[in-house]
Amino acid sequence: MQRLSIARAWSVPLALIVVVVWLSAMPIHAAPNVDDPLIAPLDVQRQEAALLPAFSADLDAAEQWDRYTVSARIDPEKRTIAGRLRLEYTNRAADPLDRIYFYLFPNLPEFGGRLDIHSAAVDGASVRVHYESNRFLLRLDLPTPLPSGAAVEVLLDFSATAPLDASQRYYAAFNRERGVLALASALPMAARRVEGAWQLTTPLFRGDLVTSDTALYDVTLAIPAAWTAVTTGTAIESQNDGALRTTRFVSGPQRDFTIVLTRFPAISTEVDGTRITSYFRPEHAEGGRAALDAAANALRVFNRRFGPYPLTELDIVQIDARKFFGVEYPGLIMIDRLLYAGEREGLEIIVAHEVAHQWWYSLVGNDVQNEAWLDEGLTSFAQVIYQEEIHGATAAARELDGFRTTYLRARQAGRDAPLRRPVSALRGNYTAIAYAKGALFFQALRIRIGEPAFDRFLRDYYASFRYRVASSDDVRVVAERACACDLGDFYRDWVLTAAPVTLP
Ligand SMILES: [Zn+2]
Repeated sequence: MQRLSIARAWSVPLALIVVVVWLSAMPIHAAPNVDDPLIAPLDVQRQEAALLPAFSADLDAAEQWDRYTVSARIDPEKRTIAGRLRLEYTNRAADPLDRIYFYLFPNLPEFGGRLDIHSAAVDGASVRVHYESNRFLLRLDLPTPLPSGAAVEVLLDFSATAPLDASQRYYAAFNRERGVLALASALPMAARRVEGAWQLTTPLFRGDLVTSDTALYDVTLAIPAAWTAVTTGTAIESQNDGALRTTRFVSGPQRDFTIVLTRFPAISTEVDGTRITSYFRPEHAEGGRAALDAAANALRVFNRRFGPYPLTELDIVQIDARKFFGVEYPGLIMIDRLLYAGEREGLEIIVAHEVAHQWWYSLVGNDVQNEAWLDEGLTSFAQVIYQEEIHGATAAARELDGFRTTYLRARQAGRDAPLRRPVSALRGNYTAIAYAKGALFFQALRIRIGEPAFDRFLRDYYASFRYRVASSDDVRVVAERACACDLGDFYRDWVLTAAPVTLP
């Protein structure tokens, strides 16, 4: 995400947090009808459509990923999505499992909406719906413990409602405003387990929200034909039935499935086999073209510097965000409307930032609440790479200067912190540490180990952790592998402590 500018004039203040108390009624309904023809086991081969041919072998690892099949209907007027989700879930821990948790992001107060689970079934048997943590969590108790390595099938009937014109108050990526219905994180998502422990902490809005494991999605959406569904992944089938259009999408290996409905025009281009499409308001055609150009440049540069983006599509949608400039989702980027009308430099670098997140956060995952610097730092550093390649050394130096100024301001105010620090412990210095100091870390590493080793580090980090979740320690291991040197002191000073590091 890009919330605040780094030493830029067009910064927008952070949001107020609005607290909403939900009813906690938990109706029990009949089990879903398991014969529904749209809900069948996920066909892994169909997922190839979302991957470039050179990466279709990535699906050989499909056994490691849970599978979501969804059939849902979206009503843009009512701002609702309702349907059925089938999850094929495997217990990948050593111990038997007695329950499964799901994240219900729309029930976070900051979403200003809600997500209800009307019924649940496990392997065909109806189970009770339990909400926890103010309805952020759904808990399903398994009728019988799930042994290590065994799989179970969960069916959920769900409906979610997004707020209207709420970009000033709530999370704008879950909102209908000015011709766009954004439905980020609208679907129930299996909670993560790390070393056998459920990760159930409610995320703080100061940082990005979703830390998740790679999964496969096969999603069929019925929407009014006048609207276009822009999603993670790619459409493989579509048919019109009067005023309704039904389209089936496959995601490829992705961490989330994001849906946006729009009636905007779009323009497309292709870079290294990936189709990039930019959706924008008709009066912002120039901005829509600039966003497309920036995304194309960024994809080309990062393909070369990090290793190729493996997916067939990348979408950019103009939304009303107001409280942030842009936000990344797998294969789909949302950018604030005002940037399209403003000076192009702001739009360009925000788009480049969100495109870099396709590598750092999306393809290579990390815990965005506990180690936000891993994706925000490397993504911010990617702005420097982008500037070097597209606009030259002076522009890159200006980018670095911005990070230096932001970080030093925090340091001089006594707000320095180690990079490896959870969002919950970064108060007023989240941007300065995770983004600015994070970006400076990678520039300092580059100087410390030299350009060829740094180049190897970037490629190795991407290749080693694509579809996985990396940690701060993994950065050190891969960097030391690249330079064949010991980086213990460097890593300690930057990542583990708030030592007064020498800035690059
Ligand atoms: Zn970001």
